[in-house]
Amino acid sequence: MTTDKKAKKWGMRIVQSILGLMMLGVFLFFIWGEIHLPAESFSEAEECRLFQADWKRVMPDGENVLNGEGVSKEEGVSVKIPGKYKAAPGEKVIVETVLSQEQENICLCIRSLQQDIRIYVDDELRKEYSTIDSQPFGKTSTIAYVFFDLKEADAGKTLRMEMQSESSYSGFISEIYQGTQSEIWRHFMSLYGPAAILAALMLVVGMIVVAGSLFIRFFYKTDEDLLHLGNAILLASAWLLAESRLRQFFLPNSTVAMYLGFFIIMLLPYPVGSYVNRVQKRRYQKAYMFIEICTILNFICATWLQIRNQKDFYETMWGSHATIVAVIAVITVTIILDIRNGHIREYREVAIGFGGLMLAGLCEIFLVYVQNAHFNGIALCLSLIFLLAMSALRTLRNIWAVEREKQIAIAASKSKADFLANMSHEIRTPINTVIGMNEMILRENKNETIREYAFNIKSASQMLLSLINDVLDFSKIEAGKLQLTESEYHPAFMLKDVILGIEPRLKKKNLELHLEIEETIPAALVGDEIRIKQILNNLLSNAVKYTETGSVTIRAEGVRGENGFSLFLSVTDTGIGIREEDMERLFDSFQRLELQKNRYVEGSGLGLNITKQLVELMNGRIEVSSEYGKGSCFSVQIPQRIVDGTAMGKLEQNNRSRMDAANKAEPVLYAPDAKVLAVDDNQMNLKVIGALLKRSGIQLDLANGGNECLQMSRSKKYDLILMDHMMPQPDGIETLHLLRGEKNNPNRETKVIALTANVIAGIEEEYRQEGFADYLAKPVKVEKLEEVLGKHLGEKAMRQTER
Ligand code: ADP
Repeated sequence: MTTDKKAKKWGMRIVQSILGLMMLGVFLFFIWGEIHLPAESFSEAEECRLFQADWKRVMPDGENVLNGEGVSKEEGVSVKIPGKYKAAPGEKVIVETVLSQEQENICLCIRSLQQDIRIYVDDELRKEYSTIDSQPFGKTSTIAYVFFDLKEADAGKTLRMEMQSESSYSGFISEIYQGTQSEIWRHFMSLYGPAAILAALMLVVGMIVVAGSLFIRFFYKTDEDLLHLGNAILLASAWLLAESRLRQFFLPNSTVAMYLGFFIIMLLPYPVGSYVNRVQKRRYQKAYMFIEICTILNFICATWLQIRNQKDFYETMWGSHATIVAVIAVITVTIILDIRNGHIREYREVAIGFGGLMLAGLCEIFLVYVQNAHFNGIALCLSLIFLLAMSALRTLRNIWAVEREKQIAIAASKSKADFLANMSHEIRTPINTVIGMNEMILRENKNETIREYAFNIKSASQMLLSLINDVLDFSKIEAGKLQLTESEYHPAFMLKDVILGIEPRLKKKNLELHLEIEETIPAALVGDEIRIKQILNNLLSNAVKYTETGSVTIRAEGVRGENGFSLFLSVTDTGIGIREEDMERLFDSFQRLELQKNRYVEGSGLGLNITKQLVELMNGRIEVSSEYGKGSCFSVQIPQRIVDGTAMGKLEQNNRSRMDAANKAEPVLYAPDAKVLAVDDNQMNLKVIGALLKRSGIQLDLANGGNECLQMSRSKKYDLILMDHMMPQPDGIETLHLLRGEKNNPNRETKVIALTANVIAGIEEEYRQEGFADYLAKPVKVEKLEEVLGKHLGEKAMRQTER
């Protein structure tokens, strides 16, 4: 960095530090000033205080009787304010006082307590408060602070307050504050402000929890129990705000806020109960259901009575209180039951959170009724935050547990994959020898009896191999690693190959074969021919397995629809059929139907599952129809691309299948000049390779393991190396790396082909990444071996037609 740039950087840092210090200084100054400097906004005398006066209760005009006692209008009865005095609902309560001779300009404030209030100074109406005419329903006015002014000129005059209410609050007179309006508000702020601010914060938290839970529910389709807690917090904080004594300070319409408060109290038991119910895994569903029904009934009845002006919410509050008590009782009892049954471990944090909430509720009750303090909700807010924190802790614990389970599952799946790899390797290695050696017997022995034995060995080992292939295909599909390899193919050849393959089995069971193959199918298509053959083979093999008499029909046709061309293939049999109730399980993995009846039919229950998955992988459809005892029809429709649209023609004319063609005409590999080294730790396998490559004339050397391979490769240049993977130290991959690392080894650059029994999903890709030029799976067919060798031997590979 140049010095100029360095200086600039330092300059910037200094400026930023100064600005940072300035901001900090401003805050520190503010805190210091508020704590240490004398209060200057209001003097002691000006502070809000209670209005003291000698009050007497007087009769309404024209009446002489007060509460049954004869009292003259002039005398009245001395009363104290605040206080509660006998008055029937609807009765007008009037109190009067004579203002002192030193009356100053002040503001008075009285809480209306659901009453209509009229305030007179002598006969002049100073203030009238009633919301009955403006509110949508209800027969009593909303509680609010009523402010009115007294002036110097009012000295010596009579201050008269008339209060009237249809509610049980009739006769209640609240304290009267005096001061300027802002002083009075400041006083209320100091009493009720913290709770309101806390409630507002809780409202925001509740919204975030609800929004977050809805998001999770929508995107992850999980049933989030936090949603219910969020709802409960949202309702509780909205209730605290609606019930706040400051509400007329920040809400334009107190009546609506009051109704909101009542509605919330009526609904609150639902989200609270619902949340605990979910946390308790719905073990006590019935009890919570009862609470929900009570909530609905209480809501409907109370609202109906309020709207009809028959009973105010105040009068039906006992219903809400009863429901709240009921939900608290249910929660308490179920938690106790869960403690006894050991279920509490699942949600101990939530239980502690609820303990806190109940304690806070008791505290509030204690403060209001025993200490005579005003209800402010701070303890409730704090306990809700505590509950939320405890619930979040539980959620974290759950996530952690799920994560741990996931790790275990991954480990289990890895060990399953390892097991499959090993099993496949262990089984394939001897089958490789069996098939390879048997091939030699078939090739070299002319004795008919021995050849028949060898044929039987061949078919049995092919069956074993197909079983292993099914298991491997299944595990590949499960792991999502099965990939389609699309290429151009001729449907006629494909069909003929399959038909030729199944014919011997049909003949053996004396089953007729019917072909309904449309000639108009395009001559050449693009798709995964091997997998389509596998699908058709699976269906045909089932048809033969589950049919004792009658026939098997193969239908093939082309369907040209909106989404392009589809190949339609179906296999119909006259076999045992499938019961209606078994249809659902048909495509499940490892699911075999009617085990008793089919006990002598070989199978793993994987074929149809793999078939279905393959069809779906190709974006196709599979359908089944069956009549039990009469037969079944399996059909598939697979989208394919057309390369050559000319009709493929009659299948019979295409008499020579590709297999025939390969057997009869295709030239075999002949490479007498090629030097190939085969590496395997299993002597039998080496013998099989030797036998398979015999006709090619290749100069083959055999190395027994990685070390011998390295040794031999140092002294002789090979054109190709065929390498097994799973060998004792060093294994095939290690040997390859060692070979590539030997600077003077003439075979440092020689292509190495993996020839291994390890055919687990994705392994081919892995071998290529390790540096192998190609991959051959054991047991390898001679044609495949020759094809791959021919590809890599280049000029040294020749072809000859004679076998
Ligand atoms: P399996 O290896 O047992 O044949 P599949 O997955 O191919 O496994 O088939 C599952 C089950 O479906 C079979 O066990 C058999 O009960 C029933 N099934 C399949 N194809 C037919 C058919 N063509 N006719 C009657 N039942 C069949």
